[in-house]
Amino acid sequence: MAGEPQSDCLFCKIVGGEVPATIVRETETTVAFRDINPQAPTHVLVIPRLHYPDAASLAAAEPQVAADVLREAHEVAQLDKVDEPGYRIVFNTGSGAGQTVWHAHAHVLGGRGLNWPPG
Ligand code: C5P
Repeated sequence: MAGEPQSDCLFCKIVGGEVPATIVRETETTVAFRDINPQAPTHVLVIPRLHYPDAASLAAAEPQVAADVLREAHEVAQLDKVDEPGYRIVFNTGSGAGQTVWHAHAHVLGGRGLNWPPG
């Protein structure tokens, strides 16, 4: 069923505590943890507890939870003190954009200069 935990999903296992992660913050609807392969001094993933394969399907089915993910991304940036001068939120969506884990997640990147356009 949509939103239900998937037994083969790594991020569902992090939500369930079956796979370890360095958790930064948790709310009723979200979990934020440090990326295992950081691309910046701050590189945190914010995920919904509910399983949706990408940000678009999450936003369509659970817009309030999608908003919670965005709010948490900013909380994480403030916690790591990268909200000034600025940070980046990325939702890789689809394999062509580099998505490798099919559970919606926001990358929160900061703590170094971030070029535009991204690679
Ligand atoms: O956007 P994408 O799907 O590629 O992002 C998945 C992210 O999950 C990667 O940045 C990867 O380093 C991270 N990851 C993690 N912990 C794991 C497996 C993957 O932080 N155990």
